[in-house]
Amino acid sequence: MSVHLYNSLTQQVEPLIPRDDKRIAMYVCGVTPYDFPHMGNARTIVAFDIIRRYLEYRGFQVMYVQNFTDIDDKIINRANEQGVPWQALAERFIAIYFEEMDALNVQRASVYPRATENIDEIISLVQALEEQGYAYAADGDVYFEVRKFARYGELSNRDINDLRSGARVEVSERKRDPLDFALWKRAKPGEPSWESPWGPGRPGWHIECSAMSLKFLGPSFDIHGGGPDLIFPHHENEIAQSEAATDGKMFARYWMHSGFLTINKEKMSKSLGNFFTVREVLQRYAPEVVRYFLTAVHYRSPLDYSDQTLDQAKSAYERLHQGALNMQRVLMAGVQAPEAAPERSAALRTAVDGAEVEFQQAMDDDFNTPRAIAALFNLVSEANKLTGDADFVPDAAALTALSDAHALLLRLAGVVGIVLNPRQEEGGLTEPLMSLLIDLRAQARADKHFALADAIRNRLSEIGVQLEDTPQGTTWRRV
Ligand SMILES: [Zn+2]
Repeated sequence: MSVHLYNSLTQQVEPLIPRDDKRIAMYVCGVTPYDFPHMGNARTIVAFDIIRRYLEYRGFQVMYVQNFTDIDDKIINRANEQGVPWQALAERFIAIYFEEMDALNVQRASVYPRATENIDEIISLVQALEEQGYAYAADGDVYFEVRKFARYGELSNRDINDLRSGARVEVSERKRDPLDFALWKRAKPGEPSWESPWGPGRPGWHIECSAMSLKFLGPSFDIHGGGPDLIFPHHENEIAQSEAATDGKMFARYWMHSGFLTINKEKMSKSLGNFFTVREVLQRYAPEVVRYFLTAVHYRSPLDYSDQTLDQAKSAYERLHQGALNMQRVLMAGVQAPEAAPERSAALRTAVDGAEVEFQQAMDDDFNTPRAIAALFNLVSEANKLTGDADFVPDAAALTALSDAHALLLRLAGVVGIVLNPRQEEGGLTEPLMSLLIDLRAQARADKHFALADAIRNRLSEIGVQLEDTPQGTTWRRV
């Protein structure tokens, strides 16, 4: 099977056939950096991180563009409230965004263009639309004339006449039609602005994504993604203005949208106090757990954030993590059975042999992470069954199967960005280091270097770690 994905444009699961052989050109609408990223942002960004990682695992070369809307009403208003320059506000929240997405193990995109760094491209695109009769200037603003674009509404499945009758007609609008949207906005006094053929102003929001995706990826690029709330009007507008400006060339070939994130089963809303920033959640849960929470659900399914769902994610993550540690512990202790008994570890061997195929089949089917992660749990549970048996004495076949299972578990977890060997968590390094010391001590004793073996035990005892020799091998505990 090849990679199949759900295309929001056709509302069908389709095979992914790239524009250019093994290269994938992907654009995802990024954040407006005026505040701390919220869990809804993290959900979308992690969803596309999984997609990108999996495509790379499948051998595609992914050019991943994600923008920053670094000029916008929200940025201007917030900067004025705080009495700071708007650039400084955007810069600060871009830095925070990177810090927090790094914590969630999100791989950096190939490029992060900013609206303010692409003003020339934006102006050229607006000019092209004006020349081709799709846009009109009105008193320093420029609008896209929606009724000129016949396919308007195709992505969101909306009928232009229904939209028009429901549209709000604002007073003092310079638009010809309530559905028309701003490509360029005349500067109000004191606002940041750029020179343009229509006078000083700044870009509307929708046009920046068309300008930057066309600049970095060209027309008919492969995947355009974003949060579910962007389908209308943002993505609909992106399609209209891009295809109008490029003689009707298809803008993006596959449209992908992440599912909604709810908080305690309600829509996330600041005014309801039903709102969580990534920062708040990271104060309560380890980043590996939050990443797991965002990864273990299918990217298109609704995801509910609550103490309960986070705690469930935490215990599921711990089961995987502990499973990996248990395998590691047995592996560090080494072979203890004089004779091989491959039949004992046959079930684990079967699980190892099938796991990657199961994982791939799940991920090929529209990035089905819950099914892919189930294949990882199966590895852990077979390994636990083997090593948890009271009569278990590691033989060579068991250790090979465990070693393969361990490597596969870490590798496949990594494909979806789940970290099973946390870097900062103290316990993450303690286990392998203790196994290493226990191993060295056993080696010293086997080589009859009893003084060295005793020194290892005594020095550990001095720092509060007690070694205990049991028939199953040496264990340790804190005293
Ligand atoms: Zn966008």
